[in-house]
Amino acid sequence: MNKKAPVLYLVVPCFNEEEVLPSSAEQLKTKMQALLAEHKIAEGSRILFVDDGSKDNTYQIITNLHQNDALFACVKLAHNRGQQNAQMAGLDFARKSGADATITIDADLQDDINAIDKMVDEYLNGAEIVYGVRSARKKDTIFKRMTAHAFYKLMLKMGVDIVYDHSEFRLMSKTAVDALFEYQERNLFVRGVVPQLGYKTAKVTYPRQERKAGKTKYSASKLLSIALNGIASFSSKPLTMIWWLGFWMHIFSLAGLITAITLMYTINLHFMWAIIAAVGWFTSFVLIALGIIGFYLGKTYIETKHRPLYNVEETLN
Ligand code: UDP
Ligand code: MG
Repeated sequence: MNKKAPVLYLVVPCFNEEEVLPSSAEQLKTKMQALLAEHKIAEGSRILFVDDGSKDNTYQIITNLHQNDALFACVKLAHNRGQQNAQMAGLDFARKSGADATITIDADLQDDINAIDKMVDEYLNGAEIVYGVRSARKKDTIFKRMTAHAFYKLMLKMGVDIVYDHSEFRLMSKTAVDALFEYQERNLFVRGVVPQLGYKTAKVTYPRQERKAGKTKYSASKLLSIALNGIASFSSKPLTMIWWLGFWMHIFSLAGLITAITLMYTINLHFMWAIIAAVGWFTSFVLIALGIIGFYLGKTYIETKHRPLYNVEETLN
Protein backbone atom coordinates (compact mmCIF):
# COMPACT_ATOMS: atom_id res chain seq x y z
CA MET A 1 0.00 0.00 0.00
CA ASN A 2 1.99 2.99 -1.24
CA LYS A 3 0.96 6.42 -0.07
CA LYS A 4 1.18 9.75 -1.85
CA ALA A 5 3.69 12.42 -0.87
CA PRO A 6 2.45 13.79 2.48
CA VAL A 7 1.95 17.31 3.74
CA LEU A 8 4.68 17.06 6.37
CA TYR A 9 4.86 19.10 9.57
CA LEU A 10 8.13 19.13 11.47
CA VAL A 11 7.18 19.81 15.08
CA VAL A 12 10.03 21.48 16.95
CA PRO A 13 9.59 22.31 20.65
CA CYS A 14 11.75 25.25 21.70
CA PHE A 15 12.51 26.44 25.20
CA ASN A 16 15.06 29.25 25.37
CA GLU A 17 16.76 28.18 22.15
CA GLU A 18 17.90 31.57 20.79
CA GLU A 19 21.50 30.37 20.50
CA VAL A 20 20.85 27.35 18.34
CA LEU A 21 17.62 28.31 16.57
CA PRO A 22 18.94 30.41 13.64
CA SER A 23 21.29 27.68 12.46
CA SER A 24 18.75 24.91 13.10
CA ALA A 25 16.08 26.79 11.16
CA GLU A 26 18.44 27.19 8.21
CA GLN A 27 19.32 23.48 8.15
CA LEU A 28 15.68 22.40 8.48
CA LYS A 29 14.68 24.74 5.68
CA THR A 30 17.34 23.31 3.34
CA LYS A 31 16.13 19.81 4.19
CA MET A 32 12.46 20.67 3.54
CA GLN A 33 13.29 22.38 0.24
CA ALA A 34 15.21 19.30 -0.91
CA LEU A 35 12.30 17.03 0.03
CA LEU A 36 9.89 19.34 -1.82
CA ALA A 37 12.13 19.37 -4.91
CA GLU A 38 12.22 15.57 -4.91
CA HIS A 39 8.39 15.52 -4.56
CA LYS A 40 8.75 13.38 -1.46
CA ILE A 41 6.59 15.79 0.48
CA ALA A 42 3.74 18.00 -0.71
CA GLU A 43 3.28 21.77 -0.86
CA GLY A 44 1.82 23.11 2.35
CA SER A 45 4.42 21.30 4.47
CA ARG A 46 5.70 23.31 7.40
CA ILE A 47 8.43 23.67 9.98
CA LEU A 48 6.33 24.23 13.07
CA PHE A 49 8.11 25.67 16.07
CA VAL A 50 6.38 25.41 19.42
CA ASP A 51 7.64 28.13 21.70
CA ASP A 52 7.33 26.56 25.13
CA GLY A 53 7.16 29.79 27.12
CA SER A 54 10.73 30.91 26.33
CA LYS A 55 12.11 33.83 28.29
CA ASP A 56 14.76 34.77 25.72
CA ASN A 57 14.46 35.91 22.09
CA THR A 58 13.23 32.57 20.76
CA TYR A 59 9.80 33.90 19.77
CA GLN A 60 11.30 37.00 18.14
CA ILE A 61 13.54 34.80 16.00
CA ILE A 62 10.62 32.56 15.01
CA THR A 63 8.48 35.59 14.13
CA ASN A 64 11.21 36.88 11.81
CA LEU A 65 11.59 33.50 10.16
CA HIS A 66 7.83 33.30 9.60
CA GLN A 67 7.64 36.81 8.13
CA ASN A 68 10.34 35.98 5.59
CA ASP A 69 9.13 32.52 4.68
CA ALA A 70 5.70 30.92 5.03
CA LEU A 71 7.43 27.55 5.44
CA PHE A 72 7.92 28.51 9.09
CA ALA A 73 4.95 28.38 11.40
CA CYS A 74 4.63 28.70 15.15
CA VAL A 75 2.48 27.84 18.12
CA LYS A 76 3.40 29.95 21.11
CA LEU A 77 2.47 28.57 24.51
CA ALA A 78 1.52 31.00 27.24
CA HIS A 79 3.96 29.44 29.71
CA ASN A 80 6.56 26.72 30.01
CA ARG A 81 4.79 23.35 30.05
CA GLY A 82 7.67 21.02 29.21
CA GLN A 83 8.84 19.39 26.02
CA GLN A 84 6.17 16.72 25.91
CA ASN A 85 3.24 19.10 26.28
CA ALA A 86 4.84 21.45 23.76
CA GLN A 87 5.05 18.54 21.35
CA MET A 88 1.40 17.66 21.91
CA ALA A 89 0.41 21.28 21.24
CA GLY A 90 2.35 21.14 17.97
CA LEU A 91 0.89 17.79 16.94
CA ASP A 92 -2.64 19.02 17.63
CA PHE A 93 -2.05 22.14 15.56
CA ALA A 94 -0.53 20.06 12.75
CA ARG A 95 -3.39 17.57 12.53
CA LYS A 96 -5.93 20.38 12.50
CA SER A 97 -3.98 22.22 9.79
CA GLY A 98 -4.09 19.33 7.34
CA ALA A 99 -0.80 17.57 8.00
CA ASP A 100 -0.72 13.99 6.64
CA ALA A 101 2.41 13.24 8.63
CA THR A 102 4.39 14.85 11.45
CA ILE A 103 7.96 14.49 12.62
CA THR A 104 8.89 15.64 16.12
CA ILE A 105 12.49 16.73 16.50
CA ASP A 106 14.48 18.69 19.09
CA ALA A 107 15.50 22.25 18.27
CA ASP A 108 19.21 21.56 18.78
CA LEU A 109 19.20 18.99 15.94
CA GLN A 110 21.13 16.46 17.97
CA ASP A 111 19.08 13.97 16.01
CA ASP A 112 20.27 13.61 12.43
CA ILE A 113 18.01 15.51 10.03
CA ASN A 114 19.22 13.27 7.21
CA ALA A 115 17.21 10.48 8.84
CA ILE A 116 14.09 12.45 7.83
CA ASP A 117 14.42 11.20 4.23
CA LYS A 118 14.40 7.59 5.39
CA MET A 119 11.49 8.28 7.72
CA VAL A 120 9.44 9.67 4.85
CA ASP A 121 10.40 6.65 2.71
CA GLU A 122 9.13 4.33 5.43
CA TYR A 123 5.92 6.36 5.65
CA LEU A 124 5.47 6.11 1.87
CA ASN A 125 5.95 2.34 2.21
CA GLY A 126 3.04 2.18 4.61
CA ALA A 127 4.47 2.74 8.10
CA GLU A 128 2.25 4.87 10.34
CA ILE A 129 4.93 5.36 13.01
CA VAL A 130 8.67 5.57 12.31
CA TYR A 131 11.02 5.64 15.31
CA GLY A 132 14.34 7.44 15.14
CA VAL A 133 16.76 5.19 17.01
CA ARG A 134 20.24 6.24 18.11
CA SER A 135 22.80 3.82 16.77
CA ALA A 136 25.59 5.37 18.82
CA ARG A 137 25.62 7.91 21.61
CA LYS A 138 29.33 8.54 21.76
CA LYS A 139 28.68 12.28 21.84
CA ASP A 140 26.53 12.07 24.96
CA THR A 141 28.28 12.38 28.31
CA ILE A 142 28.90 9.10 30.16
CA PHE A 143 26.46 10.22 32.84
CA LYS A 144 23.73 10.87 30.28
CA ARG A 145 24.33 7.56 28.53
CA MET A 146 24.33 5.53 31.73
CA THR A 147 21.25 7.16 33.22
CA ALA A 148 19.43 6.86 29.90
CA HIS A 149 20.19 3.16 29.61
CA ALA A 150 19.28 2.52 33.26
CA PHE A 151 16.01 4.32 32.54
CA TYR A 152 15.17 2.10 29.53
CA LYS A 153 15.93 -1.05 31.53
CA LEU A 154 13.84 0.06 34.51
CA MET A 155 10.91 0.97 32.27
CA LEU A 156 11.02 -2.41 30.53
CA LYS A 157 11.15 -4.16 33.94
CA MET A 158 8.12 -2.20 35.06
CA GLY A 159 6.25 -3.43 32.03
CA VAL A 160 6.33 -0.16 30.07
CA ASP A 161 6.97 -1.03 26.46
CA ILE A 162 9.37 1.64 25.21
CA VAL A 163 11.70 1.58 22.23
CA TYR A 164 15.36 1.29 23.23
CA ASP A 165 17.51 4.34 22.39
CA HIS A 166 14.58 6.19 20.90
CA SER A 167 13.43 9.45 22.42
CA GLU A 168 11.24 12.03 20.75
CA PHE A 169 12.48 11.93 17.15
CA ARG A 170 9.67 10.14 15.35
CA LEU A 171 7.38 10.32 12.39
CA MET A 172 3.69 9.80 12.97
CA SER A 173 0.98 9.72 10.33
CA LYS A 174 -2.27 11.63 10.86
CA THR A 175 -3.92 8.32 11.76
CA ALA A 176 -1.35 7.66 14.50
CA VAL A 177 -1.53 11.21 15.83
CA ASP A 178 -5.33 11.03 16.00
CA ALA A 179 -5.02 7.75 17.89
CA LEU A 180 -2.55 9.35 20.30
CA PHE A 181 -5.08 12.07 21.10
CA GLU A 182 -7.57 9.38 22.14
CA TYR A 183 -5.37 8.97 25.22
CA GLN A 184 -6.77 11.74 27.34
CA GLU A 185 -4.89 11.09 30.57
CA ARG A 186 -3.30 14.12 32.19
CA ASN A 187 -0.09 12.26 32.97
CA LEU A 188 0.62 11.33 29.39
CA PHE A 189 3.96 9.61 28.84
CA VAL A 190 4.17 9.79 25.06
CA ARG A 191 7.12 7.42 24.64
CA GLY A 192 5.20 4.74 26.52
CA VAL A 193 1.87 5.31 24.76
CA VAL A 194 3.06 5.41 21.15
CA PRO A 195 4.17 1.74 21.07
CA GLN A 196 0.72 0.82 22.41
CA LEU A 197 -1.08 2.41 19.47
CA GLY A 198 -0.54 -0.58 17.23
CA TYR A 199 -0.25 0.19 13.50
CA LYS A 200 2.62 -0.59 11.22
CA THR A 201 5.92 0.76 12.55
CA ALA A 202 9.47 1.08 11.27
CA LYS A 203 12.81 2.17 12.69
CA VAL A 204 15.47 4.41 11.26
CA THR A 205 18.87 4.52 12.94
CA TYR A 206 21.31 7.41 13.09
CA PRO A 207 24.25 8.50 15.27
CA ARG A 208 23.32 11.15 17.84
CA GLN A 209 25.21 14.42 17.60
CA GLU A 210 26.44 16.88 20.20
CA ARG A 211 24.41 19.96 21.02
CA LYS A 212 25.99 22.69 18.88
CA ALA A 213 24.94 25.71 20.92
CA GLY A 214 23.02 26.58 24.04
CA LYS A 215 22.68 24.29 27.05
CA THR A 216 20.63 21.19 27.79
CA LYS A 217 17.26 22.03 29.29
CA TYR A 218 17.33 18.93 31.45
CA SER A 219 19.01 18.82 34.83
CA ALA A 220 19.61 15.48 36.57
CA SER A 221 16.66 16.12 38.89
CA LYS A 222 14.36 16.93 35.96
CA LEU A 223 15.41 13.66 34.27
CA LEU A 224 14.70 11.72 37.46
CA SER A 225 11.27 13.24 37.79
CA ILE A 226 10.52 12.35 34.16
CA ALA A 227 11.59 8.76 34.83
CA LEU A 228 9.43 8.49 37.95
CA ASN A 229 6.51 10.09 36.17
CA GLY A 230 6.96 7.66 33.28
CA ILE A 231 6.72 4.70 35.63
CA ALA A 232 3.92 6.12 37.75
CA SER A 233 1.84 7.07 34.74
CA PHE A 234 2.15 3.62 33.23
CA SER A 235 2.63 0.90 35.68
CA SER A 236 0.89 -0.22 38.84
CA LYS A 237 3.67 -2.76 39.41
CA PRO A 238 5.11 -0.92 42.42
CA LEU A 239 1.74 -1.54 44.12
CA THR A 240 1.90 -5.25 43.31
CA MET A 241 5.37 -5.34 44.82
CA ILE A 242 3.85 -4.60 48.28
CA TRP A 243 1.76 -7.76 48.00
CA TRP A 244 4.78 -9.92 47.14
CA LEU A 245 6.81 -8.38 49.94
CA GLY A 246 4.03 -9.31 52.38
CA PHE A 247 3.71 -12.78 50.88
CA TRP A 248 7.40 -13.71 51.28
CA MET A 249 7.61 -12.10 54.69
CA HIS A 250 4.64 -14.22 55.71
CA ILE A 251 6.29 -17.47 54.57
CA PHE A 252 9.70 -16.74 56.11
CA SER A 253 8.44 -15.40 59.44
CA LEU A 254 6.06 -18.33 59.82
CA ALA A 255 8.93 -20.74 59.18
CA GLY A 256 11.00 -18.77 61.72
CA LEU A 257 8.19 -18.93 64.28
CA ILE A 258 7.74 -22.69 63.93
CA THR A 259 11.50 -23.24 64.17
CA ALA A 260 11.76 -21.00 67.25
CA ILE A 261 8.89 -22.80 69.04
CA THR A 262 10.40 -26.20 68.23
CA LEU A 263 13.83 -25.13 69.50
CA MET A 264 12.23 -23.68 72.64
CA TYR A 265 11.04 -27.19 73.60
CA THR A 266 14.14 -29.05 72.37
CA ILE A 267 17.24 -27.00 73.17
CA ASN A 268 15.63 -24.43 75.49
CA LEU A 269 15.90 -21.51 73.05
CA HIS A 270 14.96 -18.23 74.77
CA PHE A 271 11.25 -17.43 74.17
CA MET A 272 12.22 -13.90 72.94
CA TRP A 273 13.14 -15.44 69.59
CA ALA A 274 9.64 -16.82 69.17
CA ILE A 275 8.17 -13.41 70.02
CA ILE A 276 10.38 -11.69 67.43
CA ALA A 277 9.30 -14.21 64.77
CA ALA A 278 5.66 -13.76 65.81
CA VAL A 279 5.91 -9.97 65.43
CA GLY A 280 7.31 -10.49 61.90
CA TRP A 281 4.46 -12.83 61.15
CA PHE A 282 1.79 -10.35 62.31
CA THR A 283 3.47 -7.54 60.34
CA SER A 284 3.25 -9.62 57.18
CA PHE A 285 -0.56 -9.51 57.50
CA VAL A 286 -0.42 -5.73 57.41
CA LEU A 287 1.65 -5.81 54.21
CA ILE A 288 -0.67 -8.36 52.65
CA ALA A 289 -3.64 -6.15 53.52
CA LEU A 290 -1.88 -3.17 51.94
CA GLY A 291 -1.11 -5.32 48.90
CA ILE A 292 -4.80 -6.15 48.50
CA ILE A 293 -5.70 -2.46 48.73
CA GLY A 294 -2.91 -1.77 46.22
CA PHE A 295 -4.43 -4.30 43.87
CA TYR A 296 -7.77 -2.49 43.82
CA LEU A 297 -6.05 0.88 43.71
CA GLY A 298 -4.12 -0.27 40.63
CA LYS A 299 -7.35 -1.29 38.93
CA THR A 300 -9.01 2.03 39.79
CA TYR A 301 -5.95 3.85 38.52
CA ILE A 302 -6.14 2.11 35.15
CA GLU A 303 -9.88 2.87 34.95
CA THR A 304 -9.42 6.57 35.62
CA LYS A 305 -7.17 6.86 32.57
CA HIS A 306 -10.11 6.17 30.23
CA ARG A 307 -7.74 4.76 27.66
CA PRO A 308 -9.24 3.74 24.34
CA LEU A 309 -10.14 0.07 24.09
CA TYR A 310 -8.84 -0.19 20.52
CA ASN A 311 -7.57 1.84 17.59
CA VAL A 312 -9.12 1.20 14.18
CA GLU A 313 -6.65 0.84 11.33
CA GLU A 314 -9.05 0.47 8.43
CA THR A 315 -12.69 -0.31 7.72
CA LEU A 316 -14.19 -1.79 4.59
CA ASN A 317 -17.82 -1.04 3.92
N1 UDP B 1 12.25 21.73 25.61
C1 UDP B 1 11.00 22.30 25.72
N2 UDP B 1 10.52 22.62 26.96
C2 UDP B 1 11.22 22.36 28.10
C3 UDP B 1 12.49 21.74 27.98
C4 UDP B 1 12.97 21.43 26.72
O1 UDP B 1 10.32 22.55 24.72
O2 UDP B 1 10.74 22.67 29.19
C5 UDP B 1 12.79 21.41 24.27
C6 UDP B 1 14.14 22.00 23.95
O3 UDP B 1 14.01 23.32 23.49
C7 UDP B 1 14.65 21.05 22.90
C8 UDP B 1 14.08 19.72 23.33
O4 UDP B 1 13.00 20.02 24.22
O5 UDP B 1 14.15 21.35 21.61
C9 UDP B 1 15.09 18.83 24.01
O6 UDP B 1 15.80 19.54 25.00
P1 UDP B 1 17.36 19.37 25.22
O7 UDP B 1 18.08 19.36 23.91
O8 UDP B 1 17.79 20.41 26.19
O9 UDP B 1 17.42 17.93 25.89
P2 UDP B 1 18.63 16.86 25.82
O10 UDP B 1 18.99 16.70 24.38
O11 UDP B 1 19.74 17.45 26.61
O12 UDP B 1 18.03 15.63 26.41
MG1 MG C 1 19.36 18.11 23.03
